[in-house]
Amino acid sequence: MCGIVGYTGMRAAAPILIGALKDLEYRGYDSAGIALMAGAGGTGAISITKREGRIANLEAAVASAEVDGATVGIGHTRWATHGKPSDTNAHPHDGCGKGVVVIHNGIVENYATLREELLRQGHEFQSETDSETIVHLLEEQLEAGDDLLVALRTVSARLEGSQAIVAMSPSEPGTLVAARVGNAGGVVIGYGEGEMFVASDLAAVLPHTHEVAFLADGQLARVRATGPEYCLADGAAVTVERRVLALDAGAATQGAYPHFMLKEIMEQPEALSDTIRSLVTAEPPEVHLPDAPDVETRLASIDRVVLIGMGTSLNAAMIGRSYIEHFAGIPAETDNASEFRYRDAVLNERTLVVSVSQSGETVDVLEAMHQAKEAGALQVTICNTEGAQTARVADGAIYTRAGLERGVASTKCFTTAVCALYALALKLGQVRGRLSVADLRQHITGMLRVPEAVGRMLAGEVIPRDVVERVAARSDMLFLGRGLELPVALEGALKMKEISYIHAEGYAAGEMKHGPIALIDAGYPVVAIATEHGLRSKMVSNIQQ
Ligand code: GLU
Repeated sequence: MCGIVGYTGMRAAAPILIGALKDLEYRGYDSAGIALMAGAGGTGAISITKREGRIANLEAAVASAEVDGATVGIGHTRWATHGKPSDTNAHPHDGCGKGVVVIHNGIVENYATLREELLRQGHEFQSETDSETIVHLLEEQLEAGDDLLVALRTVSARLEGSQAIVAMSPSEPGTLVAARVGNAGGVVIGYGEGEMFVASDLAAVLPHTHEVAFLADGQLARVRATGPEYCLADGAAVTVERRVLALDAGAATQGAYPHFMLKEIMEQPEALSDTIRSLVTAEPPEVHLPDAPDVETRLASIDRVVLIGMGTSLNAAMIGRSYIEHFAGIPAETDNASEFRYRDAVLNERTLVVSVSQSGETVDVLEAMHQAKEAGALQVTICNTEGAQTARVADGAIYTRAGLERGVASTKCFTTAVCALYALALKLGQVRGRLSVADLRQHITGMLRVPEAVGRMLAGEVIPRDVVERVAARSDMLFLGRGLELPVALEGALKMKEISYIHAEGYAAGEMKHGPIALIDAGYPVVAIATEHGLRSKMVSNIQQ
């Protein structure tokens, strides 16, 4: 979840890039860097300045460097996934120093194989990042005679995972090239007067222009001060719609979607990517709880976990309970916060209370948390709003990075909360010595693949229209699940009631013969959730019944 920006025009590039990185700092801030192409319009060599820490460190370094006159450049604010935060691991990367430089958002999942191949070819790596493989691959293509865009097309095709890449090279003065591969990271192109911008987010572009175009998965751009050219991975030219955004553009507008809920469903790949990457690094495999340092140090003394929430958050908490039992082997239970606060719940300082609340302002959750505090329990909250009340009451917070959620029925906040709970469960498993480094690496690698998988699913046709029409005519329906899918079934039923006003119940599939099966007649809509897991064959029997 890094921030990316590029500028080509006739204004001084350094202050524009630094300003944009400040606007992007919320995405990641362990280190930052810029690369500038010398000379007005970009005629000369490229110089890189990068620093560990906040943008202010980079700003100070840039102020003392000789960067006068550069009007073309790229900048990056990093949130490390591969390789610790350091000056060397910060982007941009210049590989073997042959001129071409790269900034990257995402994860090159096959970086280890590519790195070995490049080392055999004589490339020398400076950093521990997955990203550096991209610049070495570009060097190979440029040496073979490709222009920068063709080189990026060829290289992109070799990368596994979701990425956004921007590169520039002295061989093509004043030119930036960009690629979007996969669903998890966006690329926005900003059109100015005699100048152009490239960025990961609107936030970096909006101070300069409201005329923008968004690259779709598999699209590339060559951007010069005079304008962009767009193409697909196979080189075919493509038209990317150029739009003028209203002044309140960004998260608060529905954009092309008929309603916020659909917009937010479609935003899941990015929300998940931002959340997951704020909590884990793949190499070294680690879970970070940056907003819960006190909780981290006390986790080893915990012997019980109580998860509380309401509605969708409670369903997420139920999934979290399974993760915690599975990875950490600690007794865990869930409760509705409004029930919890009125029963005589037994808690002590060895209990970890995990509250889940999208807004961090849910009254019943806050009341329950105050009670837990009196009992001396350790508390962590999972919420989507920095500095919210639950975060102030708890000993620490695990923030989901879903962005603004306007839809009344929570969507991206549900799935990101599930990811945050997964990270917490891994942390507990690690602290309690139940997970080896190899286990952790495997689970984190899997977790980092989720945004891309969700993106692929959302890109397909999810539910056939005729099924929707048949269900819409009914007044009741049933959602069945087992194991991790029981909370998903409960969540499905909750959504159906809230959004469609169709009475729906979520049930443990094994419970079906103890009552609800009596309701089922011909044409009664039943949604059975049966993914690939140990309970699938049992679920299939329930479906047959
Ligand atoms: N995977 C890259 C790295 O660790 C990019 C991280 C980011 O997107 O900030 O450097």
